[in-house]
Amino acid sequence: MIGRTAELAANLAQLQARIAAACQQAGRDAAEITVIAVSKTWPSTDIRILHELGLRDFGENRDQEAHVKAAELSDLALRWHFIGQLQTNKAKSVARYADLVHSVDRPELIAALDAAALSAKREVACLLQVSVDPTAPAGRGGVQPGELVDLARQVSDSAALRLAGLMTVAPLGIAAAAAFAPLPGIVQEFQGRFPTARLVSAGMSGDFEQAIAAGATHLRIGSLLLGNRGLVG
Ligand SMILES: *Cc1c(COP(=O)(O)O)cnc(C)c1O
Repeated sequence: MIGRTAELAANLAQLQARIAAACQQAGRDAAEITVIAVSKTWPSTDIRILHELGLRDFGENRDQEAHVKAAELSDLALRWHFIGQLQTNKAKSVARYADLVHSVDRPELIAALDAAALSAKREVACLLQVSVDPTAPAGRGGVQPGELVDLARQVSDSAALRLAGLMTVAPLGIAAAAAFAPLPGIVQEFQGRFPTARLVSAGMSGDFEQAIAAGATHLRIGSLLLGNRGLVG
């Protein structure tokens, strides 16, 4: 465990140095950036180490795994981000521990999350997943920008959900800077209508510097922090 602590500390220090450099390059303040450690496939012991190292935000993409870790780590004050495709029938479980859901992309999911959050007596913050690829097929990887307003109104009008912002994943196969190029315009238009929804979740291990340049506030970092594969033990 000492070896793992040293490894994670070194990974985190390197990541923070790269974030600082990317912020400087973009003329941004590094204090605007939150690192979400994507802990999927990695055990709760790693999350405890990262918590000791100062991280508070953790991302998971499968409810089966996430709800177990949230229970194991309930003694820590963590913010859980659900970042994966979310099935409506998992909304009830996710609303019990998730503080933010990044992958909100359809009316049925908003309705299910709202009902679940209400019965769990919790507020769940929602990020609408938007596609930065105008050629993307519907139904995966987020909605087109023109569909955001109706979803945002539905979240705003809900009983137990809070509209927090936008989330995107760069499409594969094109350079990250080009992939994120539409993002600032999408964010600006969205925040013009929904000025309190300020979070921009964009950037992963391979493209977070370009995401910072495009205005990301929340980076979802897995492999760069934790390594290339994990097994929940
Ligand atoms: C796994 C995952 C990440 C982290 O990816 P890395 O490349 O390991 O940093 C970020 N976002 C989503 C939606 C993911 O599923």
